[in-house]
Amino acid sequence: MKIRAQVAMVLNLDKCIGCHTCSVTCKNVWTSRKGMEYAWFNNVETKPGLGYPNDWENQERWKGGWERKANGKLVPKQGGRFAVLARIFANPFLPEIDDYYEPFTFDYENLQTAPELPTAPVARPISLVSGRTMDKIESGPNWEEILGGEFDKRSKDYNFEAIQKDIYGQFENTFMMYLPRLCEHCLNPTCVASCPSGSIYKREEDGIVLIDQDKCRGWRMCVSGCPYKKIYYNWVSGKAEKCTFCYPRIEAGLPTVCSETCVGRIRYLGVLLYDADRISQAAGTENPQDLYQAQLDVFLDPFDPEVQRQAQADGIPAEWVEAAQKSPAYKMAVEWKIAFPLHPEYRTLPMVWYVPPLSPITAHANAGAIASSANGLPDVGSLRIPVRYLANLLTAGNEPPIVTALERMMAMRAWFRARQLGEPPAPDLLASVGLDEP
Ligand code: SF4
Ligand code: SF4
Repeated sequence: MKIRAQVAMVLNLDKCIGCHTCSVTCKNVWTSRKGMEYAWFNNVETKPGLGYPNDWENQERWKGGWERKANGKLVPKQGGRFAVLARIFANPFLPEIDDYYEPFTFDYENLQTAPELPTAPVARPISLVSGRTMDKIESGPNWEEILGGEFDKRSKDYNFEAIQKDIYGQFENTFMMYLPRLCEHCLNPTCVASCPSGSIYKREEDGIVLIDQDKCRGWRMCVSGCPYKKIYYNWVSGKAEKCTFCYPRIEAGLPTVCSETCVGRIRYLGVLLYDADRISQAAGTENPQDLYQAQLDVFLDPFDPEVQRQAQADGIPAEWVEAAQKSPAYKMAVEWKIAFPLHPEYRTLPMVWYVPPLSPITAHANAGAIASSANGLPDVGSLRIPVRYLANLLTAGNEPPIVTALERMMAMRAWFRARQLGEPPAPDLLASVGLDEP
């Protein structure tokens, strides 16, 4: 056992309102420089949707970027320096600027002086405005929001009016949710494995993944290698850049900018202790259904005296072990099992975890329109966002852990509501979902 400490983040998607405050404050602090106009270390996507950059979850499109060895290690595809060098000149696995968006500046004069128009402006995808053809998938990180369930109807025969009609016709059947995204500061990072210059490294003390700007030679293998597409090429400096997990703030005991400014207070930071010797085994887990559990199994119980003793032997400061004991990330991910890794099937062991959104329609639930399960809580099967969709996002398709988490969320919500109203909660409400009363 080799113990390491990792700063991790849990985001409660039930509370995200898609305001983009996190993205804007992050941009102001980290990417408001020339060459990084298109880059968002933190972005908020509307799901289901193609996201930012366009189509980032489609690993078929990027799969030339990396491959997994039998021991779980991720390495550049067709390994070997010569193959890597050949791809430097023609790397086909890079997103293009149209996959992000074209940087623009507002026409402030017209914004302020344009006469009042009889109809409100309608936002359309950039390519339609500029008259480009639809030979590529058209979207933006939040474009699908206006299309609801019709997002998959894009075609060369794009007909805005027909789609609008369809949306209004099917509005009650649509669903959407927000997914804020940042670098995952993975335990098994492909960006580190794919860098020919050795400029990307994972810090021993806290697991933050950083790029040494002096060593970076701009090969961009990390851009194609990262399955989350969270590395950006600065076209002015010629170097790659990424989320730093606000390490200067973390070192000063402050939260990341996105966490501190989050309007919905959805972000929780905490320390997790893990066994570095289990990483290869977890990443190499054959059956995708077992991947979530395998990733959970790398974490260690900070209350276990044996773990504490080994942590000390491995040079983990006592205050980090204490921080791990108080960590909301540990409570939500490991103890309560209500938070999950994003796309564990990418096998990089991401360290930004998500509490799935319940998204019930409260008024519907109160009116009995959502079926009730035995303990009087709404049945997860009748929640608006399909369990299948959440499982594909968070547990490589393994539905039972998602169902348990949603049931726990509903029970916790009902318990706290009852307490707030001064009413006794239903007997054994928390016990029925395997939780202790606080
Ligand atoms: Fe590297 Fe991508 Fe993982 Fe971040 S999300 S550590 S950039 S592989
Ligand atoms: Fe969601 Fe918070 Fe970002 Fe707003 S600031 S979009 S609530 S994560």
